[in-house]
Amino acid sequence: MTETQTPRGVLICPMPADKDAMHAAFLAQSGDRRVYLYPELAAPDAPMAEQIGCIVAFRPPRDIFASLPHLRLLHGTGAGVNHMLAVPDLPRHLPMARVVADEVTQGMAQHCLHALLRELRDHRTYDRLQREKVWKRLPQRDAGTWPVGIMGLGALGMGLADVALRLGFAVRGWSRGEKSVPGVATFAGRDSLPDFLAGLSALVVLLPLTPETTGIVGAAELAAMAPGAVVVSAARGGQVIEADLIAALDSGHLSHAHLDVMATEPLPPESPLWTHPAITVTPHIAAAPNGPALARLVLENFARLEAGAPLLFPVDLTLGY
Ligand code: NAP
Repeated sequence: MTETQTPRGVLICPMPADKDAMHAAFLAQSGDRRVYLYPELAAPDAPMAEQIGCIVAFRPPRDIFASLPHLRLLHGTGAGVNHMLAVPDLPRHLPMARVVADEVTQGMAQHCLHALLRELRDHRTYDRLQREKVWKRLPQRDAGTWPVGIMGLGALGMGLADVALRLGFAVRGWSRGEKSVPGVATFAGRDSLPDFLAGLSALVVLLPLTPETTGIVGAAELAAMAPGAVVVSAARGGQVIEADLIAALDSGHLSHAHLDVMATEPLPPESPLWTHPAITVTPHIAAAPNGPALARLVLENFARLEAGAPLLFPVDLTLGY
């Protein structure tokens, strides 16, 4: 392949439900760049595989990489790239980027705040009182005395911290590297985890899934929180040990858990998480970029790569996020 034949095509591998909208969004913005939709237009032996320079996927199809000899850019469809990184034949020498977008940051803040406010303001109890036709006022809790800890102070954790602070919550944040965030009590590194967790009324997990964060919230971490505390797990299911969470809820130490992500997705019908009285399940809907925003970012990143400019939101493959 000569310099002038450098592959400029983009292969998109959407989830079935997003297929048409994502394809239309890429076609609308791609200009003279060809867009291929997996699997219709890019069966492994299709001739256009030669033309593909960028793959866009959440969970790339098995064995796809062997059939894309001229790939130059790996692009996630979301904020997390753990599924892409788990593919055995991933060409790990290639640059990779992920998605950071306003609607994802805002959607995640909305999702987590909805859960936090329901708990802070006793709305699960008010739902029950309404069903029982009981007019009863509970004392209004002061958000400033109800500490919320956010694990992960990245794009999403910082977005949540910002709005939580404005609603008066006492906010703590935990990250890998040291951070200084006005109004937030910050903690960095594994050694600081006990201090970060001690006495929390709510824990929100917004970490990428990496070997270091897998199973990071277990029995000891949950026990460190205040009696009656709540957990909001909205990043990846492998981070909270589900059996330990159920045990902490059953013992009464925790009062409720809001789970948007689970170790196995879709959640199997036999999972006890579905029916546990102290667990609210949502089907991994906290936040996603819309098709046009995803297409804009991917196409900009591909153009940056071609121009030798730094990528937006690159993934550090050694760190795994
Ligand atoms: P990000 O910008 O990469 O931020 C990650 C944060 O986690 C950073 O603050 C990082 O610390 C911290 N971190 C990583 N490894 C750590 C470790 N071992 N110990 C302590 N802190 C660690 O990611 P993001 O955009 O905020 O997204 C976070 C995750 O949310 C994604 O990876 C994805 O899995 C999940 N997500 C879920 C949904 C949903 O719908 N449920 C939607 C979007 C995203 P440093 O700042 O020091 O690097």
